[in-house]
Amino acid sequence: MARIRFCDSCGARLPRGFSARRRYCDDVCRAQAYRDRKRADHAFGLGLMLGEAEWTGDEGMIQLLTCPECGQITFAGATRRSDLIYCSGRCRSRAWRRRAARRARQRA
Ligand SMILES: [Zn+2]
Ligand SMILES: [Zn+2]
Repeated sequence: MARIRFCDSCGARLPRGFSARRRYCDDVCRAQAYRDRKRADHAFGLGLMLGEAEWTGDEGMIQLLTCPECGQITFAGATRRSDLIYCSGRCRSRAWRRRAARRARQRA
């Protein structure tokens, strides 16, 4: 009996008759898997940098590497666009709302 296999990228069941060497449904899934892997490497590199920054107490670097809202590593470290310093749109809008609330309080 042929073993049931699943796509390494999207997890869909691969059709029977696929060569045993094929691990993905199609090229889209293969490219996606490659991107995921690249991203994981990137995250690993950033994690190392962050560990070093924490070790040396380099606050500027820590700020650059982490989301000011939740403290998670962001992928925006290299760019300095201020709207990219948050890990996600959710954190960005949360920070924005807090700033707006603070401004409203100051005005009152
Ligand atoms: Zn797939
Ligand atoms: Zn965040």
